[in-house]
Amino acid sequence: MIHLDNYNRILSELKPYNAQLVAVSKTKPIEDINELMKNGQTIFGENYVQELVEKANSIPDAEWHFIGHLQSNKVKSILPVTKLIHGVDSIKLLQEINKQAEKQNLNVDCLLQIYIASEETKFGLSYEEAEEYFTGPLSDQLKNVNVKGFMGMASNTEDNNLIQAEFRTLKKFYDTYKQLGLDTLSMGMTSDYMIALNEGSNMIRIGSAIFGSRI
Ligand SMILES: *Cc1c(COP(=O)(O)O)cnc(C)c1O
Repeated sequence: MIHLDNYNRILSELKPYNAQLVAVSKTKPIEDINELMKNGQTIFGENYVQELVEKANSIPDAEWHFIGHLQSNKVKSILPVTKLIHGVDSIKLLQEINKQAEKQNLNVDCLLQIYIASEETKFGLSYEEAEEYFTGPLSDQLKNVNVKGFMGMASNTEDNNLIQAEFRTLKKFYDTYKQLGLDTLSMGMTSDYMIALNEGSNMIRIGSAIFGSRI
């Protein structure tokens, strides 16, 4: 069962920020996705490769984003159905995506996932690694990937000031490199999307508020 009341409220909250909504449908059935599409949603996010490929094949009209941790050996299977990969958490992975994209004659939009939380459990590049990518030769060499911006997950905490500070730092970093053609800053999920929007996010990823809890 989907929460249309929450969905519509989130849409109206998003409007003044000119941000996009990725509806995170991981573990949820095709029927729920179809129902949300009927209500106007077009972008869906998935965390697991096989699940994404299956869902994308049965609902090809939706725009599919991969938001999870991607293993190198799974890259090739998601490329044909994925519009944006949010979780590029190492330069090695970006190189692998470029290699597979070249083989498939594709250009793939990606976000570098930056490690912004003060916890040790989240994947991502450090700011230094991301900086190295932009200032070094790789950004020109990898011709089959387009780095469109960044994704960040804040600490899982009640401390809103900490969450705000983590998002703010990533926004600042994004602004520094924006003139290179970046246009996407993916920050904010069910628990912290309002903070993220206020700190400059233009793409939020919402699962449980729309589709219900996943347990
Ligand atoms: C699951 C997931 C979300 C959505 O989380 P909710 O708290 O259910 O909104 C967003 N981003 C990523 C990377 C996720 O894995």
